[in-house]
Amino acid sequence: MIPGQLLYPLLPPQGTPSIISPMSRRLFGFLLSVYFLAGCGSYQPPKTPSLQPIGEDPEVRISREFRREAKKSLKLVQNIEVERYVNQLGQRLLSVMGPRPFEYLFFVVENSQLNAFAVPGGSIYVHTGLLERIRSTDELAGVLGHEIIHVKGHHMSRMSGPDPSSLLALLGLFLGGSSQAQAALALGQALALTRQLSYSRQLEQEADTLGVKYMAEAGYEPKAALVFLKIIDQERVLNPIEVPPYLMTHPVSQERIANVEGVIRSLDLKRPKSELPDPLKKIQTILRLERRESDAVIAEYEKQLSQNPESSEAMHLLGVAHYYNGRWAKARDYYERAKAANPKSPGIDRDLGRGYTQLGEFRLAHLAFERALAAEPNQTLNYLFQGELYDKELKLPEAVDAYLRAAKLSPAWAVPVRRLGEVYGKMNRLGDAYYYLGRSHLLSDEDEMAIAALERALKYAGTTTPRGEIIKEELDVIRARKR
Ligand SMILES: [Zn+2]
Repeated sequence: MIPGQLLYPLLPPQGTPSIISPMSRRLFGFLLSVYFLAGCGSYQPPKTPSLQPIGEDPEVRISREFRREAKKSLKLVQNIEVERYVNQLGQRLLSVMGPRPFEYLFFVVENSQLNAFAVPGGSIYVHTGLLERIRSTDELAGVLGHEIIHVKGHHMSRMSGPDPSSLLALLGLFLGGSSQAQAALALGQALALTRQLSYSRQLEQEADTLGVKYMAEAGYEPKAALVFLKIIDQERVLNPIEVPPYLMTHPVSQERIANVEGVIRSLDLKRPKSELPDPLKKIQTILRLERRESDAVIAEYEKQLSQNPESSEAMHLLGVAHYYNGRWAKARDYYERAKAANPKSPGIDRDLGRGYTQLGEFRLAHLAFERALAAEPNQTLNYLFQGELYDKELKLPEAVDAYLRAAKLSPAWAVPVRRLGEVYGKMNRLGDAYYYLGRSHLLSDEDEMAIAALERALKYAGTTTPRGEIIKEELDVIRARKR
């Protein structure tokens, strides 16, 4: 759910291709609604990160095909705060790991089992069951650092051989509902197949050693990786029947624990730890709100607040719960109290900004986002929500600017790009609108819809302009990679 998202009139244009979903019909529809003409300059964005020239890396292809299947078979958490929390953590780890031959994408799966897994080519999945069991963001950094090393070191192809098609079939096991998984279960071979996906001792050690080293370099507490290993090892001892899937693919041994302890001892920590407060508790609360447990969440934090009237965390999370239920004034009141009790409550100024935006208190909203940006200038969400504020005020060129900054900070994320398309639609700049709409489909692995939108954008741009040249090139690549 994206609170505050505007609804647009449903006016599908003539001849909309049949591959366009009702959702996109609405998008195409609003593009026709004319608000006013504004003349801000055309921005030439960098190439879409997921697009590789013809003859792409087989691992990148595996990753894309897996993502398409995963969208159908797995229940992915769509919440943008949760999505960004995991992605930005991943990007911070990657920032100290040197060059990347492909884009890394992180997804959260609504599933209570403790699990995380990495697909060759950079797609990494974390279960909500894991996010809810950990006690700090540092622990998640340990898990993601380890998974990134499996991808970066091509561990899966190193253990299963180079044949991409057999690898993709094996990976189907991660998709509970896939035909391969069902067939395997019918034959009682699921366990044996899962063992085939289990990393060897040597690869686990490599992922631990490098993962811990990089998480420390990125400013996370390396001891948290050890805490996590010990938690899942305990789980195995306490409950040997229902072993968490994570343990099947990443077997924990005393040898692994001893290795991580040795790596931590050998670390020469130069990087200071991050000063920002840990947002994990807020993320865990949002996951519960997404599951419609808001009554329980509110009762719990009201009780906490009555026992400890100074708890800024309880005030803040009550604000979050009321916000998710559309009770903006109540949300704002709790946010203001939380801010007064603890100005460093995680992301409090951003939350205040959103609350004020919903209530039409635009001046206060701007001040709140300015404070949020001063504290976290590289936080994509600060720009995205600032864009929503400008959008609501009908300051469309300013909204474009804010969404562009968000897109620049998180170039592989479809949401700010889609918003750009929407704002350009309102500005009646249909060429730009279709262009960004197409790119957002591309970033969402929706090639057919991307082609439809980019073809329309090409008509507006003309084939001989610089923008037209880029669109033609992108269209060629998408068409060439179609099966
Ligand atoms: Zn592993």
